[in-house]
Amino acid sequence: MLYDVTRILTPRTAVFPGDTPVSITPMLQMHSGNSCNVTAITMSAHAGTHVDAPRHYSDDGAGIDAISLDVLIGPARVMTLDVAGAITVTDLQNAIRDASHAIRDAPRLLIRTRASDVPDDVWDDAFAYFDPRAADWLGANGLRLIGTDAPSVDPATSQALPAHHAFLRHGVVIIENLRLQGVPDGEYELLALPLKIAGGDAGPARVVLRR
Ligand SMILES: [Zn+2]
Repeated sequence: MLYDVTRILTPRTAVFPGDTPVSITPMLQMHSGNSCNVTAITMSAHAGTHVDAPRHYSDDGAGIDAISLDVLIGPARVMTLDVAGAITVTDLQNAIRDASHAIRDAPRLLIRTRASDVPDDVWDDAFAYFDPRAADWLGANGLRLIGTDAPSVDPATSQALPAHHAFLRHGVVIIENLRLQGVPDGEYELLALPLKIAGGDAGPARVVLRR
């Protein structure tokens, strides 16, 4: 069983206020006499479902092309948290029993919140984000990858991006803007493949879960 947990890219795809929207422009069109259809795409690297690279929040951080595929493919856990505001260490401790074992078995964690119910073309900044201590706790327990259905692991208004930096300190890769609607909690194989953009601060990705 495969679950496609990727948001769709259209000119209406919601992006952070002020960020570059998606535009898909026909350059060659068969109905205009061209031999094939070709489009040009302009968009923020953070539009839709994407993997953040350390370069996003650190000038000398690794680009998206340097993130190991080994982290992006493998056992993952989907977990629903009905949290508004900050996801705290307590929220995680209540949800994950025997955390060090559970995270060793599935070192990739995808958090499903109410954001999965927000349509792809609606911006809603009232999303759940991570208390940086929760990010540190996950990293200390051996997490390798965190996925969220929200547009960011930090609040929409954050400039300091403390949760991004906390995950970076532990080498935890971040996926944002997943759509986990209809995906039952449990263990899966994650396949997340961001575009190989040289030095990119993020890579739009097709993300799939296999049961
Ligand atoms: Zn991002």
